[in-house]
Amino acid sequence: MTIRILGADVANQIAAGEVVERPASVVKELVENALDARANTISVTSEGAGRRLIEVADNGDGIPADELHLAFQRHATSKISHIDDLNQLYTLGFRGEALASIASVSRTTVISRALGEDISGRMLIEGGHILVNEPTGAPQGTMITVENLFYNTPARLKFLKKDATERQHISALVSRYAMAYPQVRFSLSQEGREVLRTSGNGHLEEVLLEVFGLETVQQMLPIQSQADERRPDRFPVVVNGHIGQPSLNRANRSQITVFVNGRWVQDSSLTYAVVQAYHTMLMTGRYPVAVVLIDVPPHEIDINVHPTKAQVRFRRPEVVFSAVQRAVRRTLVDHTPVPQLSLGSSWGSPDWAARRDRLTQVTTQRMTQLGFDADGTMIDPPDDDDEPATGPPRPRRNLPLLRVVGQIGATYIVCEGPSGLYLIDQHAAHERILYEQFSAERANEQIMIQELLEPVVIDLIPEHMDLINANVHLLEQVGFRVETFGRNSVQLRAVPVMVAQGDPAEALMAAIGDIECGDMPMEATAEQKMIARICKQVAVKAGQVLSPQEMQGLIRQLEACEAPRSCPHGRPTLLHLSAEQLAKEFGRLGAI
Ligand code: ADP
Ligand code: MG
Repeated sequence: MTIRILGADVANQIAAGEVVERPASVVKELVENALDARANTISVTSEGAGRRLIEVADNGDGIPADELHLAFQRHATSKISHIDDLNQLYTLGFRGEALASIASVSRTTVISRALGEDISGRMLIEGGHILVNEPTGAPQGTMITVENLFYNTPARLKFLKKDATERQHISALVSRYAMAYPQVRFSLSQEGREVLRTSGNGHLEEVLLEVFGLETVQQMLPIQSQADERRPDRFPVVVNGHIGQPSLNRANRSQITVFVNGRWVQDSSLTYAVVQAYHTMLMTGRYPVAVVLIDVPPHEIDINVHPTKAQVRFRRPEVVFSAVQRAVRRTLVDHTPVPQLSLGSSWGSPDWAARRDRLTQVTTQRMTQLGFDADGTMIDPPDDDDEPATGPPRPRRNLPLLRVVGQIGATYIVCEGPSGLYLIDQHAAHERILYEQFSAERANEQIMIQELLEPVVIDLIPEHMDLINANVHLLEQVGFRVETFGRNSVQLRAVPVMVAQGDPAEALMAAIGDIECGDMPMEATAEQKMIARICKQVAVKAGQVLSPQEMQGLIRQLEACEAPRSCPHGRPTLLHLSAEQLAKEFGRLGAI
């Protein structure tokens, strides 16, 4: 075959493959165009799962009738004119490709009237060829109707998934944009049924309510972070959004949605930053629900990575990741409530709700007077910084003040707090305490080491010998000093103080066990895992009788923890039975 330049039609269809993968990609491009045109109402309609018809109507700036034909040419855009414009991009689009691509693989009609114009235009394009371009009457804004998507690219059509799946992609997409733009009124109707409608009143929480439902939103917390002006070396990264409490978790990462400068991005490292912030608060294999909106100066990102613009490149990724992680972590640490004990059905009375309100009010007033917030946490303005500003750091309180009442079954500590009864799992609590102590010591590299009076000789199988030899340094970092002693044994000379009371050989074996199944490329995680494991070995066990002093000591140490409400494995350390619930159970509500 001789070399030929492809006809414009074929070239366009090939290029369209990059931008328009499925019906939801059409919706994405059209919605982004509407947002760029500053619309505050966007309605999306799809039929036949978007194959038969996709229609996006907006009330934005519109396209002048005499520019309609331009809008559908490849590389035609009103958003940039010079490559440097990409450094200060405030629009979602800039490639001038979407409309040309969409029109080349469908039958597309556009009707638009531009701001301040009297005439509006209508244009019909099929397979990239303009069939009609005529004046018409229309309100300000743009309506684009895409019919018979992929009619001329049967290969693409074949790769589409079941209708239900394609519909779901569309609704997930519109929901996400509704979350990122709560000030825009969105509606989505599929197969004649309205599936989403938002009010456009600017409140993210209301959009979340529409998308996730009440039960989920009740378990979400607003994130708020401010740009740190005391750090001129850092550019401002503003993190907003809502994140789920640890109790709200899923089996995969699909409910972690991240936006950068109003653009939905699929970036595994940002997702990782969010997941990391839940470290030790969620069981392994569980992932949070989160909607994270990140804003950075436009010159700090490069969006021109991929035609769909679903990826961004950061100039200084570490700054963005740590800002996201800190904001999410801080929100969790400050606001995760203590799980409430539920006693099931109870003695009720018809005007229960009114009484409960009164009671809550009374309790809340009393607690506020005492300086606590609703879940019994002492009110203390959040100190969103990893380094102290000036002056001594303010003490933080992550738990209500608790008074020990006693122990149940040598397993749980019963405490009185400002708003009722608290039950503490002594083993889980001690795990949390040890975990944080050990992590802090490691972080400061001044781990407390206990020299053993008599070195302990431990016989090992060759495999473990190899492991130890290969990890002497790592073991030393966490406080174990081992030396080879003969061919198949080691001498343990020092152990971390934290395990000094237990069996040193057992502690070393636990550490080796973790190295064995740890992912060595990620040393940090392996170490964290090792620490968590050690804690589990030496923590006060369930079934151990504790003296009042020991219990009080444990509670004080737990209060000093950064994240005292869960053990390092994500299980709760304490449960709360509120004064209100107690009163309800005892039928004492009327007596107040
Ligand atoms: P891009 O968005 O990258 O500029 P598109 O192919 O998506 O490229 O759109 C081409 C041009 O058409 C845009 O730059 C814009 O001027 C105009 N346009 C497209 N959709 C709309 C709309 N809904 N409202 C106003 N103008 C629009
Ligand atoms: Mg566009």
